[in-house]
Amino acid sequence: DTIEKEDAEEDLLPRAPIVTIMGHVDHGKTSLLDYIRRTKVASGEAGGITQHIGAYDVEINEGPNKGKKIAFLDTPGHEAFTAMRARGAKITDVVIVVVAADDSVMPQTREAINHAKNAGVPIVFAINKIDKPGANPEKIREDLSKENILVESWGGKYQEQEVSAKKGIGINELLDKVLLEAELLELKANPDRTSVGTVVEASLDKGRGYVTTVLVQNGTLKVGDVILAGQYFGRVKAMVNATGARIKAAGPSTPVQVLGLPGAPQAGDRFNVMDSEREARDIANKREQINREQSIRAKKHITLEEIGRRKAIGNFHQLNVIVKGDVDGSVEALSDSLLKLSTEEVQVAIIHKGVGQISESDVLLASTADAIVIGFQVRPSNNARRIADQEEIEIRLYSIIYDAINEIRDAMEGLLAPKVEESIVGTIEVREVFKISKVGTIAGCYVTDGSIKRNNKVRLVREGIVLHEGEIQQLKRFKDDVNEVKYGFECGLSLKGFNDIEIGDTLESFEVKEVKRKL
Ligand code: GDP
Repeated sequence: DTIEKEDAEEDLLPRAPIVTIMGHVDHGKTSLLDYIRRTKVASGEAGGITQHIGAYDVEINEGPNKGKKIAFLDTPGHEAFTAMRARGAKITDVVIVVVAADDSVMPQTREAINHAKNAGVPIVFAINKIDKPGANPEKIREDLSKENILVESWGGKYQEQEVSAKKGIGINELLDKVLLEAELLELKANPDRTSVGTVVEASLDKGRGYVTTVLVQNGTLKVGDVILAGQYFGRVKAMVNATGARIKAAGPSTPVQVLGLPGAPQAGDRFNVMDSEREARDIANKREQINREQSIRAKKHITLEEIGRRKAIGNFHQLNVIVKGDVDGSVEALSDSLLKLSTEEVQVAIIHKGVGQISESDVLLASTADAIVIGFQVRPSNNARRIADQEEIEIRLYSIIYDAINEIRDAMEGLLAPKVEESIVGTIEVREVFKISKVGTIAGCYVTDGSIKRNNKVRLVREGIVLHEGEIQQLKRFKDDVNEVKYGFECGLSLKGFNDIEIGDTLESFEVKEVKRKL
């Protein structure tokens, strides 16, 4: 879609940062989000009862940053962040990575750091639980340094803050550091434009119908606006903020619950405000059609072939792998080499590894985590094999580590993608041209080879040079719309978005087919 416009520099005003909290399980993400929500959300007129709507915004009530705002995504964990990123949504400006001071840097801490780094989002570290007797924040700094993360107090570039989400220690300082990080980003938006942003969550609510929490990223969303999100559109009937208060307008970096959509768009879907319901309906219909087509074409799980397909549509950011092997040594060697295949764009994540046959539970994990299973000198159990077949989970078996690495590397580079083959199904010659006002150029043609099909793409060739590639707008025999015109017949046609057709031009109609390759 090209429904979004750029803003002129002079229309841009500073906006609040949008923050996601990540970290290892039990290190205190929820506690931190809850503490900030409880103490910092300005209580609205509606009694000040804050609600979980998937995001909230706070206003700093003391200190040098008094009056400044921060918006938080209220979905702790990495799923929300990765799911949204997988859908192309970029809504986090700063990530807070929580590490418990009585524990260590753990796998999900590393994962959080990697996610943020991958997304190019600055990190502020919250060293949590410093109220606990066993807390050792200095050890966390040391742990982090081993991950190539040097915090400020150790002379590095990453800001860190000791906090207790339970006792409320260090929270103001943490928020100050987030704001400092945000300042460097010079975040700006234009409040005076039609609004755009991202869906954070959506659900069906008894009595209120579908409620959709959106984060306004640019412009101001108002009650009465025609909003389009994913494949749904409707007029904004009412808006409710995180304090439960009804509001009439929401500016940049404001999370707000919207009533009025007839369905639930997905988290990470973009929303746009449209000029008219008609325009919104057109795009919604098109998207619905595309979604339908894609869901028919979409494969359920990742496979080596599927990697290429996802890559081609920019939807491949992480390859989840389960590694099983005959002995510890091979599992470790294989896992290490696989991790080293990670690039800036794509992370390899070993979500599980172990010694022994590939079990039912390995395959089920692969199914829920969208992973491939790699076996080195091991075989799946009968049950595992059966489920893998049913669910189309890819199990790759190897007896040479080098082969495994090479094949996965090729797959990640898209080299194992299904091959796309093109075949020309017909050519036609343009013999007459009619310019009709409001309709455009209609070409009177003669099919000189094969046949021309309405749904195939065409290429316009003039004097041996390809001038245009695109779709057919209309294909007619006399007055009738037709789907195909065969060799030796005349037809009239117009092209989508292209009117520069001349007598003597040739059009070739071509088909694009995926050719399955054998692995
Ligand atoms: P999450 O899994 O990262 O969301 O972690 P939670 O917020 O659920 O916290 C896990 C446990 O640690 C809970 O029992 C919390 O009460 C406790 N906890 C969280 N923050 C602190 C803290 O600052 N101090 C202490 N003593 N306990 C904390």
